[in-house]
Amino acid sequence: MPSNEEKKPEEKFKEKLSNLFNPPDPQKKKNALPPKAHFSIWYFLIVFFLFILIQQYLLAPKVETIPYSRFKQYLAEGQVSKLTIGPDSITGALKGKEGKPDREFITVRVEDPNLVKELDEKKVDYSGLYQSKFLNNLLSWIIPIGIFILIWRYAMKRMGPGYGVMSFSKSKAKLFAENGVKVTFADVAGVEEATEELQEVVEFLKNPGKFQRLGGRIPKGVLLVGPPGTGKTLLAKAVAGEANVPFFSISGSEFVEMFVGVGAARVRDLFAQGNSHAPCIIFIDELDALGKARGMNPMGGHDEREQTLNQLLVEMDGFESNKGVIIMAATNRPEILDPALLRPGRFDRQVLVDRPDINGREAILKIHSKNVLLSPEVDLHQIAARTPGFVGADLANLVNEAALLAARKNKETVEPAEFDEAIDRVVAGLEKKKRVMSPKEKEIVAYHESGHAIVAESVPQVDPVHKISIIPRGIAALGYTQQQPTEDRYLMTRSELLDRLAVLLGGRVAEEIVFGEISTGAQNDLQRATDIARAMVTEYGMSDRLGLVTYERERQPLFFPESFAPSKAYSEEKAAEIDEEVARVIEEAHQRVRGILSERRKVLDDLAHLLLEREIVPGEELRKMLGKPNPSPPS
Ligand code: ADP
Ligand code: MG
Ligand code: ZN
Repeated sequence: MPSNEEKKPEEKFKEKLSNLFNPPDPQKKKNALPPKAHFSIWYFLIVFFLFILIQQYLLAPKVETIPYSRFKQYLAEGQVSKLTIGPDSITGALKGKEGKPDREFITVRVEDPNLVKELDEKKVDYSGLYQSKFLNNLLSWIIPIGIFILIWRYAMKRMGPGYGVMSFSKSKAKLFAENGVKVTFADVAGVEEATEELQEVVEFLKNPGKFQRLGGRIPKGVLLVGPPGTGKTLLAKAVAGEANVPFFSISGSEFVEMFVGVGAARVRDLFAQGNSHAPCIIFIDELDALGKARGMNPMGGHDEREQTLNQLLVEMDGFESNKGVIIMAATNRPEILDPALLRPGRFDRQVLVDRPDINGREAILKIHSKNVLLSPEVDLHQIAARTPGFVGADLANLVNEAALLAARKNKETVEPAEFDEAIDRVVAGLEKKKRVMSPKEKEIVAYHESGHAIVAESVPQVDPVHKISIIPRGIAALGYTQQQPTEDRYLMTRSELLDRLAVLLGGRVAEEIVFGEISTGAQNDLQRATDIARAMVTEYGMSDRLGLVTYERERQPLFFPESFAPSKAYSEEKAAEIDEEVARVIEEAHQRVRGILSERRKVLDDLAHLLLEREIVPGEELRKMLGKPNPSPPS
């Protein structure tokens, strides 16, 4: 835009701001319909009443209302010319005097047995009125039906287009034209691992023939897994944008309809559309709404959803991915998905879209502040450092808030003060969701995770640590220590179980040693530790005191009412003994872990500080600190 050059900087800034608040959306423009005439029920009612008023008062002939006594008087005087006797009223005409037209009158009918005789006497022309009930009947039917139809139409409109009975099997998959998706990987940051994995999908979509020639099997379904707002939807679009292919998207919740069979029809339709537009991407957002494990509902199945899910499975099986159609889906709750969805040939590739680390957050801030005039004092790295746990959507929101604040204060540029305020606001919003930690909490979490990690590297029989992170994930886990399995495991020995138990206790013991008190953050660890200890005692017969006896029955099915569960197969005394034994196993592990961590107190401090600084520490670094060699990669 050449005219842009001439504008004063503040004008330019304001324009950018307004662009930021109402980003021009090319897709929306393209799909926009001409403004529809707004039909409102109120217009209709107003016209209707006007019409009735006109009929009543303007079009009706002038009629004089007279008392019955006057009518009798006129009758006696012989002035009445003709009469119509209705059920409630009498209308008639009075003879006009000296060439004047007849005057019409109306009077209320009074019980008067002699009226007919008098009329006959005066030779008045009279008739009874047969009042047709037809119109009344008609109205009493038509009006309720009319109201019903209006309500129906209104409800249909509320549900959005495509819900009419005629169109109920049409897929609402929106087709964005060939160049419709403008999003590319450059618009996504902080999720490099995911973008790398998806690069392969892009390559394939760009050139399906190449892969086919080499006989490689192309992934059919790619499942993006990650917390809300990390950019899953954005990534799926970016894949379509990078490969320059059409992008069909539908949300899982849209499949689940009130009519049984509609969802299944939609799935069929969606895949038919995808097939005819290959190469393309079919994207199912919020797959969990549709793909919840079947049979999980204790109140009997949700037939409609199961049908839809079955149809999806069928379509995915019957799909030739060689044609160049890739099915992508996103979910933030992979654990509730039906296992059938994750089988080979379906969503067999899963891509983790995790919360960004500090550098990722900085990159995302950079992307979103591209169109915002930042003061040179704004340090995005420092802002990133202050926002652990923020996801991409939060950061986009943060930049937007800051720009809004600057605009409200009529500033030329967005300054650090606005970012400070915006962070406070966004944090206040997020704090309700328990996702942002105070510095003290962060320190506790850093020591907690360091404890897990150091114990994991110090006991002989557990998997090496892959990475340690204090980026919060979800509500329960404030940080995590990821271990890399070196081999598949089917059996575990007693000492391995004890080592695992030690790792689980590591977090809590570290808190104990460093802070002299413990937090609620270890609850899940203790739960799992107790489970392991209990299983060792009651299921695997690993306790010397209780011996080689299994005390636990098979697990009960989920949601099975308590009262149906078989009673315990052991006595109360035995139960007390089991509890004591479980407590002993845990206490021994506790002492062991205390020993391990007290011995490595220096490493514990160093690692915790490193975590506070960098949020993520790779396992190699920890092993270096402990003076251990790195393990050979899994074979
Ligand atoms: P999800 O589908 O994972 O819930 P979205 O893709 O809908 O998240 O993200 C919402 C918005 O947040 C995006 O439109 C984008 O503006 C911003 N956003 C989220 N993640 C990122 C990211 N990694 N990089 C850049 N922007 C992001
Ligand atoms: Mg989404
Ligand atoms: Zn823990």
